Amino acid sequence: MGLYNTIDTSARCTNCCWSGNMAVQFKYGNVHDHEYKVGNRVIWGRPQIGDPKERRVVVQGIAGCPTCDKDNFFDILIIDSVIKDVMPQSGLYDYRGSGYVELGSDSEAGIRK
Ligand SMILES: [Zn+2]
Repeated sequence: MGLYNTIDTSARCTNCCWSGNMAVQFKYGNVHDHEYKVGNRVIWGRPQIGDPKERRVVVQGIAGCPTCDKDNFFDILIIDSVIKDVMPQSGLYDYRGSGYVELGSDSEAGIRK
């Protein structure tokens, strides 16, 4: 497992449909058990994953449902190091490897405004 950060956000479980606040785990920026909310700026510093020069990224998030314990997966949109949105995983991004995907400036597909 290792270290990760969390985002406290409201979400709905894909398994049991429980809806409420989940602590979505992700690995981006300084990885040291930071607790964020949507709108916060990612803290940088070693040990870190990613690069503060990356403008637009989607990061894989995971949260266990507090009711049924099933893992729920998310796409976390981060623009200029600010956490913009946490969405149910679309399946559009390949997180194998680093656990996040850098978006080109013209790669708007799949991103909810
Ligand atoms: Zn559940």
